[in-house]
Amino acid sequence: MAKSAADLKAAQSGIEALVEDIPLSKPRCNFCGGENFVVHMGREGEKCGKCHSLRRHRVALEVYRRRGLLEKPETGKVVRVLHLAPEYLLRKAVINVVGGGYICSDPNPDNYGNAQCLKLFFPQDFKIFPDDYFDYIIHNHVLEHIPGLVKEILPEFTRIIKPWGYHIFSVPGPDMRILTEEGGEFLDSDEERLKRFGQEDHLRKFGYDFPDIMNALPNGTFSWDGLSVEDRRQLNVAPYSNRFMVWRKGRGKGLSPE
Ligand SMILES: [Zn+2]
Repeated sequence: MAKSAADLKAAQSGIEALVEDIPLSKPRCNFCGGENFVVHMGREGEKCGKCHSLRRHRVALEVYRRRGLLEKPETGKVVRVLHLAPEYLLRKAVINVVGGGYICSDPNPDNYGNAQCLKLFFPQDFKIFPDDYFDYIIHNHVLEHIPGLVKEILPEFTRIIKPWGYHIFSVPGPDMRILTEEGGEFLDSDEERLKRFGQEDHLRKFGYDFPDIMNALPNGTFSWDGLSVEDRRQLNVAPYSNRFMVWRKGRGKGLSPE
């Protein structure tokens, strides 16, 4: 027998009540399990109150996990990772898995205490690494500090990544309302860089064409991090913010690894 409109409405509101009753899990820090997030640099909920991870660190760890970087290598296999400007928590998490395959570098190694960073200037010093060498190159908020043209910088990284290896990184933005702007090294003062690029030592701003620049790199595939709004919420990260870029190298020209 057909149900009356009133019955259907009652059943529907029952379902809605049920859906509302399902508690959403509390956001948790994926480094330490902490559930208390505090203000950092004026940004509400940015920092884990327990281990001090920032949003981009929590997203990074999840992206690394999904791309296999947190899986213990098979016995006898070396997984090589190059980490630029190595953040403490990410360094610890990656070294824990890959051990001796981990290398970090920065032009100012003293900023990274006992990390035993190599002092390397980009791109000239990166010539020490052979082609197809690293399984992963990882960095966050580094690319905006490197002088030159990003179209010329990126191939210096992709050259030293192994076939099927990954380049996983984040930058401020990209700002989808602007074209990528560069040339901060030619501006006369920190004030001008602050005004144009948002920070005194930022040399570029990434815009809506940046994914196209990534896509145009030969012999590889570009994708965004793949984390959903809900994945972000669980890490106490705002929807669509702290987006990561993932580039995976293929085995030959025109071949896609995925
Ligand atoms: Zn934490």
